[in-house]
Amino acid sequence: MTIICPRCGSSGCVIPADMVLESAYTMYAACQSCMADPGIGKQTPFDRLFDGVDAIGGIDDIDDATMRCQSCGKRHLDLVVAHVLGILIREGLCDMQATLSDVGTPMITIGYQIPFPPRLGRDTLILIMNTIDKKTAEMIISEVSEVKGVIQRKGSLEHPIGILDTGSSPHTYDLLAGCDLRGDIVLSAFGELCIYKTQSDTHIEFSRGKSDKVQVLESLYYQRRLLGSVVDACCGAGTLGLVSVLAGAREVILNDAFLPAVKNTILNIRANASVLGLELEVHVDLSELPVVAGAPVLVATAHGSCDVSVYHGDLVRLAAVVDRCDLCLIDAFIGVPTAGFAEAWKDTARMVVTI
Ligand SMILES: [Zn+2]
Ligand SMILES: [Zn+2]
Repeated sequence: MTIICPRCGSSGCVIPADMVLESAYTMYAACQSCMADPGIGKQTPFDRLFDGVDAIGGIDDIDDATMRCQSCGKRHLDLVVAHVLGILIREGLCDMQATLSDVGTPMITIGYQIPFPPRLGRDTLILIMNTIDKKTAEMIISEVSEVKGVIQRKGSLEHPIGILDTGSSPHTYDLLAGCDLRGDIVLSAFGELCIYKTQSDTHIEFSRGKSDKVQVLESLYYQRRLLGSVVDACCGAGTLGLVSVLAGAREVILNDAFLPAVKNTILNIRANASVLGLELEVHVDLSELPVVAGAPVLVATAHGSCDVSVYHGDLVRLAAVVDRCDLCLIDAFIGVPTAGFAEAWKDTARMVVTI
């Protein structure tokens, strides 16, 4: 089954989850011929980064072949970032005192907790950068084969990406070059999923191993609260709702007011269809929906192991659309008051859990 990337239109970006889960644990591993960890410091200035490496005297000595394994074709993450830093210095965006950590936040395209330094192949890295322009971003994509997408951060690190509520305007980063679609492997007591997201318009969550939010779901499961109908009211890329499907919920309703989140949720039902045992049907033309929803619109349904509905709507107004549910999960951004949301759902849901 081929899934077309909703961002770049290629057929290589979205790998079905069952295939990801089979291959992820070797995807970033060194082969027998890979060189040992080069041991370069993330805080070492570029002009001292390659002290002791005779072949590299300056930025002109680093290209796409530098220190790449001849056998598996992969390169150590730090070398990829050093290559990018060399380009930033060459283009005058950084000076020779800059370090690897100045480049930005590197995110591998299939994220999970890797117990060793990753070795990267083609199109496996998305960079979130502060000091960058479009022209240089395009150079990085064409010169550094591992880099799949370059995103420019806007605002502070703490400012969450997306919408806080339907009254606020979306905060997103800029995708300057390439494609920003990447997946994270989600671990749970019920099994694993691969949750894809268009990273420039999705809030970045770094999880070490199992996420706290999934652990909340697991404890609800052990209290037998995940059996009936579950509403994931601000579903983002769909993680909690789809983990609830895995956990054996009878019915799951996923909703988000932000259109990119709804699109990612639909993509994730597709990409995880065989793991979840679901068949998806999309009912509306997604390109005609507004970026921030008002009245809830039923966008897609899926059937099989569970009855799944996907809505694009204000979560307060969704409460009037849903007949009755056993559990309503409200996963709002930190700092957003949720009392009004819980109040709206108190007659519809037997239990409201804010995560
Ligand atoms: Zn893509
Ligand atoms: Zn190798």
